[in-house]
Amino acid sequence: MLDFIGKKRRTHFAENLNINNGEEKVTLMGWVHRRRDLGGLIFIDLRDVSGIIQIVFHPENEEIHKKAGKLRNEYVIGISGIVKARSESNINKNIKTGKIEIEVQELLLLNDSEPLPVQINENILAEEDLRLKYRYLDLRREKLKKIILLRHEVVFAIREFLTRKNFFEIETPMLMKSTPEGARDYLVPSRVFKGKFFALPQSPQIYKQLLMIAGFDRYFQIARCFRDEDLRADRQPEFTQLDLEMSFVTQDEIFEINEELFRYVFEKTINIKLQTPFPRLTHEQAMQRFGIDKPDMRFGMELINLSEILQNSEFTVFSSALQAEGSVRCVVAEGCATYSRKQIDNLVNIARHLGGKGLAFCKVDENGLNAGITKFLSETEKEEILKKTGAKNGDLILFAADSNKMVFKILAEIRNHFGRELKLYENDEFNFVWITDFPLFEYDDEKQKWETAHHMFTLPKEEHLKYFETKEYDKIEGQLYDLVCNGVELSSGSIRCHRLDVQKKIFDVLGFTEEELNEKFGFFLNALKYGTPPHGGIAPGIDRIVMIMAKAESIRDVIAFPKTLQAADLMSESPSPVSPEQLDELGIAVTTKTQRHEEKR
Ligand code: ASP
Repeated sequence: MLDFIGKKRRTHFAENLNINNGEEKVTLMGWVHRRRDLGGLIFIDLRDVSGIIQIVFHPENEEIHKKAGKLRNEYVIGISGIVKARSESNINKNIKTGKIEIEVQELLLLNDSEPLPVQINENILAEEDLRLKYRYLDLRREKLKKIILLRHEVVFAIREFLTRKNFFEIETPMLMKSTPEGARDYLVPSRVFKGKFFALPQSPQIYKQLLMIAGFDRYFQIARCFRDEDLRADRQPEFTQLDLEMSFVTQDEIFEINEELFRYVFEKTINIKLQTPFPRLTHEQAMQRFGIDKPDMRFGMELINLSEILQNSEFTVFSSALQAEGSVRCVVAEGCATYSRKQIDNLVNIARHLGGKGLAFCKVDENGLNAGITKFLSETEKEEILKKTGAKNGDLILFAADSNKMVFKILAEIRNHFGRELKLYENDEFNFVWITDFPLFEYDDEKQKWETAHHMFTLPKEEHLKYFETKEYDKIEGQLYDLVCNGVELSSGSIRCHRLDVQKKIFDVLGFTEEELNEKFGFFLNALKYGTPPHGGIAPGIDRIVMIMAKAESIRDVIAFPKTLQAADLMSESPSPVSPEQLDELGIAVTTKTQRHEEKR
């Protein structure tokens, strides 16, 4: 028989109680986390949002004891009882309330529960797909719950800090015009205007710029963004950004306010004092030293360019890369000369997996370079390599020779691999770095056209405007910046193009015709005509920040109801078909081709 809650009111949460509440009568509500029936005494760990406390049923209180005997895991109960100190030998050091327990006097059975399809136990985790199907049960796990609560605190601290700094939180539309912002849009069909579509925002970029034109000066929003992309491990189709924008600012001011914000949030929520200002690297420096624009700077093992030393190399792998204007670079893995053939093959496979031809290696022993490609190198080359790399007896040198792009890609990955493998960093470190001076454009070899490296609303460096005239687009750097922490890109931002003439030049390079421009961006270009202040901003990803702060393994762990890598929701089984009537109303027909495609999946 189930009880109703009636007039019973909760007086405390489990973990608010401690030894100072001794002999107090309290009322708690929660779940049966674990039960031990010792024949006479019944012990139950009662779990609520705050944590766990032990409650005890004595056989003397026959009626309640009998009722308690029927309790099973995850039943929902309300209890009233007296807080008692546990004897020294019964103290449980594993829980915060381990010095006390509650002797139960009243028991309400508020609901029962079927045996759970997934256990709420960190040690016996079910397959992730099953946990996602029963996400609401998985969220009962202490670890996940703590992350979600941390996320709340982070967002709260952000709101607090920015409000104090005169930022206004302003919502922008979820249903907006589809604009080619970089990724693929999620489209929403209009019922009223059949055959026409809204898009869900990839970010509130245009709106926040319009808010600056409107004169709000400082804006922020905890903004949901949607990108219909093939997902990677640290991406979700919908994610949350702290979107912010400021008028009359310089890059330095944006950095300062963000550093202060991060310092505030980290100290307030996880009590970590960050050192500011964060170091800065230009994009060029980051690429040369780490091969990547989001370097994990918790460890060294920087890339070394050997192209000059090897310019006359007779080793064809090297010479052909150099002749094709590529480079030969290496990293030194300290103490890894003991690596077996199999371990080295593993590294070669990483390179191949990335589309490279492979990796060459040398080992260093007391006589200098040895093994691998040593036999293809001249004495001088060997000496020079040792000198330039500083490699010592016992080290392993790994070489990549290819186009610069490929060499960077391979060695950056190899470096990160060693960082993890050799544990080259402390796990509780937070290493922030600003990456600046990105190129504004990148040439897409496949599409044979220029694309923007980040986004098309970025102001080029003033001194690079001349390259628009000479069409040397690869020389144009944007006032663009990223904030990286422990090798994860946390935010991107830029100083925006507040001038219509410059914005038009950018669209020109991207190959938009006048007609396309008017159709896609007409409203925005029009707005730029009416006194647009210089402005800029940034958008730190909340999911990634919380992921780093909580040291979560997956981005899915920091989102209450995440999607899978296939962008599906296993719990609600969506996306899902809709009725023919719904489609009719929207004037949409699903083609048989689509249906067949779906059946195959
Ligand atoms: N809208 C940009 C993005 O989502 C961020 C920014 O430039 O502020 O990447």
